[in-house]
Amino acid sequence: NFWSKCTDRLENDLPQQQFNTWIRPLQSVEDAQSIRLLAPNQFVLNWVQNHYLNDITEYLQSIAGANAPSVSLEIGSRAAVQSPQESSIERIQSFKPTPAAPIRHVDEAPMPSNLNPNFVFDTFVEGKSNQLARAASIQIGENPGTAYNPLFIYGGVGLGKTHLMHAVGNMIVKTNPKARVVYVHSEGFVAQMVKALQHNTIDDFKRRFRSVNALLIDDVQFFAGKERSQEEFFHTFNALFESQQQIILSSDRFPKEVSGLEERLKSRFGWGLTVAIEPPDLETRVAILKSKADQLFGVDLPNEVAFFIGKRVRSNIRELEGALRRIIANAEFTGRAITQEFAKDALRDMLAAQDKQVTIENIQKTVAEYFKIRTSELLSAKRSRTIARPRQIAMALAKELTNHSLPEIGEAFGGRDHTTVLYATRKIVELKESDHRVEEDYANLLRTLTS
Ligand code: ADP
Ligand code: MG
Repeated sequence: NFWSKCTDRLENDLPQQQFNTWIRPLQSVEDAQSIRLLAPNQFVLNWVQNHYLNDITEYLQSIAGANAPSVSLEIGSRAAVQSPQESSIERIQSFKPTPAAPIRHVDEAPMPSNLNPNFVFDTFVEGKSNQLARAASIQIGENPGTAYNPLFIYGGVGLGKTHLMHAVGNMIVKTNPKARVVYVHSEGFVAQMVKALQHNTIDDFKRRFRSVNALLIDDVQFFAGKERSQEEFFHTFNALFESQQQIILSSDRFPKEVSGLEERLKSRFGWGLTVAIEPPDLETRVAILKSKADQLFGVDLPNEVAFFIGKRVRSNIRELEGALRRIIANAEFTGRAITQEFAKDALRDMLAAQDKQVTIENIQKTVAEYFKIRTSELLSAKRSRTIARPRQIAMALAKELTNHSLPEIGEAFGGRDHTTVLYATRKIVELKESDHRVEEDYANLLRTLTS
């Protein structure tokens, strides 16, 4: 069918996060003349319409010519008629809230909710990088258990996953103070389970977790390899899902890519809505800095200082906050005004340390030296094995060790396309498994670059 050909092509062409966020959630209803694409909500619909619809239409015309089906977009879902065995894409639920299951009353001592009152939507700055994740979270806060279940938020460290989870939890409790919302880091879940096993209170443990109205489990990648916990969590998940209680999960990567997790868990993680949080762009970083300065310290951060910090600290929001704290503490201590000069001074050590971080140029230089070739050859069009393989290794290292996107890495390697980088990283992952030499070279380079 046409749509699956189309998604193969898009998966190949687009950065993975974009594909996962915008294309994967679409379902298709197809006949000979037309493809109806069902988007889970208005937000996804608009986005796809503005960013991908042209490509999709063009591509269909390129493969089917005059017989190409027409493409239309609407909000909807086929999930209602599907069984749990089907794939995550198929299982996305539409944002038509079904009636909520009643809040259950349980006599036991309540579990602590662990919600941080500062992590609310009001203090969460919206930007392009977190727009969908935020929109989905708000919908869930308004319709827990019925909008999307589970919600799976993924993205790099310090980008706001934990903040968003708490924000949903706080919103649910605010609307319904009787709701039992529990936030727990996956390591906390494991620790509590181990303790329950030790004290023979595992039945209690099960009951407690299965009697909540919303369960928020952070950083599920830490379940990796912990089989007993996964087993326990699997049953908890099923119990909550079946009784329409909300589940929210976070991880540093897309559900299917979390290694060391049972298949049946991974597939369940994709049943609801999966959304990515990406690193914020400069304007969002600046907005977050100004908002944090005001909120946390009552300081009106001058724009030039906010831009200075935002430009220099790019990795994640936790680091931004660290930089801000340092400047403000310094200013209070010395009684000096916060100017750009002052900020530069206060951050001197931090920026120096950051400048030592691995850069793409650094990787290229190290890889070239290691393979005794010239850096210019890595960037050249040469395709001989002795150059192409090191080039692929260097690209894979750049992906692993820096925060640069695939297009940026491609650009840094002599203006190559991002699909070339994608192909290189996949190829190297494959070769590390099958070819001893590549595995060793990669490990050596990794060690050199990170020590
Ligand atoms: P993660 O769980 O993804 O590692 P956190 O949720 O812990 O990241 O966020 C790290 C810090 O950055 C927190 O202090 C959080 O409040 C802040 N933060 C993240 N995203 C935003 C945002 N969009 N607006 C305001 N603060 C944010
Ligand atoms: Mg977190």
